[in-house]
Amino acid sequence: MTSPDTLTPRLPSPLREVSDERFTGRGVRLLLKRDDLIHPDLVGNKWRKLAPNLEAAAGRTIVTFGGAYSNHLRATAAAGRLLGLDTVGVVRGQELADRPRNPSLARCEADGMRLHFIDRSTYRRKSEAGTLDALLRAVDARDAYVVPEGGSNAEAVRGCQAFGRELRGQDARVDVVALACGTGGTLAGTAAGLAPDQRALGIPVLKGDFLAAGIQALQEQAFGARRGTWSLDDRFHFGGYARTTEELDAFAMDFEARHGLPVERLYVAKLLYALAVLTDEGAFPPGTTIAAVITGRPFP
Ligand SMILES: *Cc1c(COP(=O)(O)O)cnc(C)c1O
Repeated sequence: MTSPDTLTPRLPSPLREVSDERFTGRGVRLLLKRDDLIHPDLVGNKWRKLAPNLEAAAGRTIVTFGGAYSNHLRATAAAGRLLGLDTVGVVRGQELADRPRNPSLARCEADGMRLHFIDRSTYRRKSEAGTLDALLRAVDARDAYVVPEGGSNAEAVRGCQAFGRELRGQDARVDVVALACGTGGTLAGTAAGLAPDQRALGIPVLKGDFLAAGIQALQEQAFGARRGTWSLDDRFHFGGYARTTEELDAFAMDFEARHGLPVERLYVAKLLYALAVLTDEGAFPPGTTIAAVITGRPFP
């Protein structure tokens, strides 16, 4: 197989200041770290997390997991097409097997990914050895390279550590790196790569208080210990994954109109909203420079 580097990713991704009085009025500089521009098909943090896994797979079939609208499944399928790798996507929801494909799963199949649908209770047990063995047999890929849901494993976390290093001294001095979290793999790695006087702020888009422990576990797996300065603010999930409100939609549309940035709604909208609220609350002292990581772009 060919290396992901042959896909000419745009790295380092651009870091641009935006002028927005909700921030400048508080003495805060807001920069957008445009990871959505890294590659047209392997977008954002999915590139950062997948690239080291694609190297590690060394040509083996990649088996991975996700929900019906998973950005991670689409990125993996695209990587398979671009690099000539076989990919299998194990999808949560047996009932989806016989339905017309939604646009996200249709894109995965068009990129050559084989889809395998399983019921929700099996899906919850997918990492247990017995369940995983049976799954790999069922998809006829017994020596496959397995990437966990959301792509967050130690390889991915180390890939995101390189991203953190990229933010140490690019164009502007950044104090706070803010990003939206699903599994938290991106935050785990990013925080580990930052300079000692920088910190990472994570905005969970899922409801629940499991994330901090998950991030710590990912750091221990990847580095042997907790790393860097990071924290979470869990007030901005808007009811859970893919949930939204009129207020959030209006905020995202307004941000798009003001700054010409296509705002991805599952993660990026919640991040930018959170930063506006936190700034208004005075959470950032005047003189703070924030880099908001644009981890993806809207699909389709
Ligand atoms: C997957 C994804 C995330 C979350 O990344 P984690 O490492 O799982 O926390 C954030 N933003 C976008 C756009 C994503 O697709």
